[in-house]
Amino acid sequence: MRRLLLLSPLVLALALGSCDDKTKPAQTGPGGEVKTPASPQPGPPTPDDPPSDGGAEQPSSEPIPPAPGPPAQPPSPPAPSPATFAHEPAGAIPAGQGSGYLDRTVWSPAMCWPLQDDAFANSQVYGHGGGKGPAGTGQCDQANYSLPWRDTFCEARSRDNPLCAGGGTGHQGQDIRPAACKKNQYWAVAAETGVITDIGSYTVTLTASAAPHRVYRYLHMQMAALAVKEGDTVAAGQKLGKVSNDFGGTPTTIHLHFELRAGAAGATTDGKPVVLHTFLPPYMSLAEAYQRKLNGGTCGG
Ligand SMILES: [Zn+2]
Repeated sequence: MRRLLLLSPLVLALALGSCDDKTKPAQTGPGGEVKTPASPQPGPPTPDDPPSDGGAEQPSSEPIPPAPGPPAQPPSPPAPSPATFAHEPAGAIPAGQGSGYLDRTVWSPAMCWPLQDDAFANSQVYGHGGGKGPAGTGQCDQANYSLPWRDTFCEARSRDNPLCAGGGTGHQGQDIRPAACKKNQYWAVAAETGVITDIGSYTVTLTASAAPHRVYRYLHMQMAALAVKEGDTVAAGQKLGKVSNDFGGTPTTIHLHFELRAGAAGATTDGKPVVLHTFLPPYMSLAEAYQRKLNGGTCGG
């Protein structure tokens, strides 16, 4: 069983790199442009330069006038404590569980982590308690509530997904278990400021207000007690509903299925076309959003 690892900054850099290709210093974005990696963490503060004495020849018996020049700067605040978490690389799906799909684009680079609390991204089908999971255990097995995260985009499913290899079917989003194996307790929140454009029997769709108007869809919340209704405008980070197992007539495991769909045409890093509303791999966007949360970042209300 693997648990949260708190690592040194050096190891942090390596761990974060596991979502990227370490051999490539730059990413190719949706328009084919090269995306530079995020800036490194600021280094440790350095001591201020020693103050000028106003002239080395001045006799020491005389009072020294204030040194000319800019006022002294306040000391730099200490760098925030880095935090990280163990996660398998994007596109890594275990053998026999589907094609997976590696696209290095972070499609929503500034989105909010779509849950209020910590959570565990992994497979609902192949994990404990899943339809194809290990026998004899249930969904609350601690293995499901442990790191590392796993990408589940293009996990084997019958749903249409043109980005998945081998026939164009596969899982359309990322499955995320809440902080603990309890339904109707943990909030899902808006990934971006936008409008609730649709509510289905077990789906809530949020269309971002800002270009490129990405579309986020949340599945399996407690539909009878949502915090929003169709047509509502919500702010990034605003509560939408509680993670549950609603799936129409038959319940699923307790998890949030999170989808990210294209708001504009583009292309993936391996050149596959993306048209409006193509299902996009959300894993890297989620990992970056979660890392920002672990580092103390906040997201709206
Ligand atoms: Zn799912």
